[in-house]
Amino acid sequence: YGDNYLKENAYTETRALSEAFNRMLGRMKVLDDSRTEFVSNVSHELKTPLTSMKVLADSLLTQENVPVELYQEFMGDLSEEIERENKIINDLLSLVKMDKTANTMNITSENINALVERILKRLRPIAAARNIEVIFESFRPVTAEVDEVKLSLAISNLVENAIKYNKENGWIHVSLNADHKYFYLEVADSGIGIPEESMEHIFERFYRVDKSHSREIGGTGLGLAIARSAVVMHRGAVKVYSQLGEGTTFTVRIPLTYVM
Ligand code: ADP
Repeated sequence: YGDNYLKENAYTETRALSEAFNRMLGRMKVLDDSRTEFVSNVSHELKTPLTSMKVLADSLLTQENVPVELYQEFMGDLSEEIERENKIINDLLSLVKMDKTANTMNITSENINALVERILKRLRPIAAARNIEVIFESFRPVTAEVDEVKLSLAISNLVENAIKYNKENGWIHVSLNADHKYFYLEVADSGIGIPEESMEHIFERFYRVDKSHSREIGGTGLGLAIARSAVVMHRGAVKVYSQLGEGTTFTVRIPLTYVM
């Protein structure tokens, strides 16, 4: 009886172990696949401006006596492509920082009202250039334990998007509120909105709604991925509501006290 019982037990345990091992392998494969996909996306995104730069440089090099206007035009295009490459690299670096574990969180007690004001002060001139009004409504003073750099990056990305995907003479409404546990930051805009079928993808790395249209607007498709990572690292959540052609609202909820 004893022997059989032990055997039976060992058998069940081995099976459980082997199942757990298989599950782990499955999960690792999913992780590995998404990593491979990410690397391939990164390579593609980095190569696109490079290809343009090469074409621009080569076409100047192979021509003799290039007229100065043409030279200037090509150099201007070249400069734009370099700027684009630089933006992608910067966004990628931010994203990699976000991907690291919680021990890279640099938590301090911050006045969130002041933090938002600082970001808006920097972005208001960019909005004003497009005649977009930025309103900040604060329902109460909020102090919270946050990583100032990461949270600022998240909020900046949301407000920058609200400017980029807005309409001429539009508005942006930023509001801040809190209860005993969380603070809530809302960024609402009167912009172009997001199509229903894109809603589930916008936080994915490199995803952009309308590639050709978005390309004119300029962006890397990494902003929302960065914003979400930053919010999640604070044990928070971000949600989006949108009406195509009417506008979009992002809401961020973050605990007032940081829990490891
Ligand atoms: P991007 O660098 O393209 O702005 P993001 O990751 O910040 O990348 O956003 C992903 C896509 O989601 C954008 O390309 C855009 O199509 C859409 N999007 C983001 N924010 C808004 C917004 N406030 N209004 C409309 N569309 C938006």
